[in-house]
Parts: sequence; structure tokens; C-alpha cells
Amino acid sequence: MSTTVLVINSGSSSIKYQLVDPKTGDALASGLVERIGEGTSILRHTYGDEEVEEDNPVPDHGIGLRRVLELFREVGPDLHTANIVAVGHRVVQGGNFFTGPALVDRDVKRTIEALIPLAPLHNSANLRGIDVAEELLPNVPHVAVFDTAFFTSLPAAASTYAIDREVARKYAIKRYGAHGTSHSFVSETVSEYLKRMDLKQIVLHLGNGASASAVHAGRAVDTSMGLTPLEGLVMGTRSGDIDPAAVLHLMRNAHMSIDEIDKLFNKRSGMKGLAGQNDLRTIHAMADAGDRNARVALLVYAHRIKKYIGAYAAIMGGLDAITFTAGVGENDAKMRELATEGLEFLGVKLDTSANRKHKGGIRVISRQSSKVKILVVPTNEEWEIARQCLTVI
Ligand code: ADP
Repeated sequence: MSTTVLVINSGSSSIKYQLVDPKTGDALASGLVERIGEGTSILRHTYGDEEVEEDNPVPDHGIGLRRVLELFREVGPDLHTANIVAVGHRVVQGGNFFTGPALVDRDVKRTIEALIPLAPLHNSANLRGIDVAEELLPNVPHVAVFDTAFFTSLPAAASTYAIDREVARKYAIKRYGAHGTSHSFVSETVSEYLKRMDLKQIVLHLGNGASASAVHAGRAVDTSMGLTPLEGLVMGTRSGDIDPAAVLHLMRNAHMSIDEIDKLFNKRSGMKGLAGQNDLRTIHAMADAGDRNARVALLVYAHRIKKYIGAYAAIMGGLDAITFTAGVGENDAKMRELATEGLEFLGVKLDTSANRKHKGGIRVISRQSSKVKILVVPTNEEWEIARQCLTVI
């Protein structure tokens, strides 16, 4: 009889979950609770062809998860017979402490709590999810899977900011990266698909949040997100790389508060700041209709990706594969074209007709003569979390 893992991603006002078969990656059921603590909440549970949606208020995570467990009973699948071997929790920040998944106990929770200053919204929400799930599902092991774990292997040259060493040490300021579960899953998938373990590869996770990583022989050697997920590529609503002096300038001259600047760079920047929208589908349509801001936004987005491709090829001393993943990476042929054009000198040659074909699954979109393989690989963070759970239970 096959086993399952319940994967939980608890955010500040949401819970996403999936019941996963860790051998195949199949999602047996999935759902989400959104706008927890707000006037109207949304709860959606899907099992096979059945989808249940509710909009009753969900005041807190405990009540939300309790309702989810009821829906498993009412709609299915019955968790008593689903043979759950673990509950896997996504945790955003594991600092230097977690180089892999960890079986949740009091010490693990204390460490996640101690890391809250590095990821205030995320780690506290992740911890709340663990507490509630432990209470409601006390008879299965709970496992924390960290977004930063894949990047604990970064060499000092990549993880160190060039600031006063004592200040950096005291306040734990270094580059931790993020989206590690996806970068780990995708880079491993590419190695298996191309049957080469020594690859020098770049993974471009382009979703609402976006990040690039350089992975050499299965080990992350650089990544674009830093102390927080704000650094790096242009994102849906986040600026990515920016001169830190912009903060000083805004404080001194615009008299903006820290919270206002936080909101500006995290919520009002990126594509949203440049084009007024964060969904690339809308921005392409606007650009096609002649909107200049939308056109420039797309160029800025692609330019930043190209910069990272060049930098990572240089760091690794060569390049064998570039892989696109997540919402934009998997679906946006035009962006893949913009981000790779002019890179023939690096041996990167896109097959434009293969690139435009809408197909699911793993696919190669580079030309036969391209030295560097270009691929599209659908990410599956839930499956990766489920697989990692099995390694510690
Ligand atoms: P998240 O980071 O929230 O998990 P996803 O990886 O699901 O995000 O990516 C969501 C984003 O993917 C959307 O905001 C949109 O910009 C982009 N996207 C989805 N489908 C397409 C498409 N067909 N063409 C261009 N962009 C797309």
C-alpha cells in the first residue's frame, strides 16, 4: 500500500496544503485557506473531480486547519486510510542551522523561533502552522523543510556581504538565498534528465517571486536572493537588486519611514512598480497594445536575468544548461526568448519554434547545435518537501 505525506505551507494569512504520494509526486488532494483573520476568508479543497469552496470567516490558523481536516473527512480522501507517514512543513528561513530537513521537536521549534528576526512574517507563520498541525495530527512525525537549506553550501565568496565583519556577525547578515526547495528539485531533475551529475547549470525560478541559482555538480555555488528574498531578479512586486543608498536617499529626502520603504520595495516595485501590473500575461498584452512602460518593464526584467546568466557562467567557468521554471519560466515563451537572445557567444542557442510549443512536462528548447542545453522543467516544491521528509523519518 502506498504512503502519503501531508505538505503544509503556512503563510501569514494563508495555509496551502497538498496530500502527496512521495514516490510519484501525485497530488491526491490539495487546497488552500486564504485571508485568515480577515472578514471574508476563502477555503478551497480539491479531491479528484470534486472541488469544495467556502467563504466563511476563518479567524485563525487553528480553526482553518481544523476545517481542512473536516473536509478531508467529508469530501475525502479519508486521512485514516491515506497512510500518512509524515507532515512536511515548509519553513522559509533556516539560517546556518539547518542544512537539510529536520524532524520537528522542541529544539527545532526554538531555533525556528530564534530566526524570526531574519524572516519576521514567514518564520512566525510557519511556526504557527507547525504548532496547530502538531496539535491536530499528534500521531505522525512532523518535518520542517527549509527554503534556505540548499544554499547552506554556498562558498564564503558568494554568501558574504562586503560590510564590517563584526556588524555582519552580530546581526547574522549574510546571503542565505531562498526558493531552495525548487532550485534543488529542478537542478536534480535536470541532472537525471541529461544523465550528467557534473553539470554546470543555471536554474531560473521565475514566479511571482523570482530567483536564479548557479549549481555545479549538484551543489549550489551562488544564488540571487540574499539576506531576504528581496535581492536579485526583478519580481512581480519586488525590486530585486538596488543600490542600498536608495534607502538612505528616501529616508533623508522623502522622509519615508522604514515600514514605508519596506512596502515600497516589496509590494510596489518590480513589474508592479514599472508597469502598474505584476502578472506578465497582462504586461505582454499591454506592451503589444503600445504601452511604453510595459515594454520597458519587460526589457528590465529580461536584462536582469541575462546579467545573472553571464555572471554565473563566469563564476562556474562554463555552462552546460539553463533551466526555466515556475509560472513565468514554464509558460512565458516570449520572456524566455528575450532572456536568452544575444547569448550565442556563450553557446546558448534557443530553438524558437520548440520554445513556442505549449507542452507540459520536461522539455529541451535549445537547438541541436547549442552547446548549452536550454530546458523547461515544471517545479514541484510539494513533491520535493515530501521526498525530503522521507529522508528523516
Ligand atoms: P508564486 O511565486 O506565487 O508561486 P507562480 O510560480 O505560480 O507564482 O507564478 C505566477 C506568475 O506566473 C503570474 O503572476 C504570472 O506573472 C506568471 N504566469 C503564469 N502563467 C503565465 C503565462 N501563460 N504567461 C506569462 N506569465 C505567466
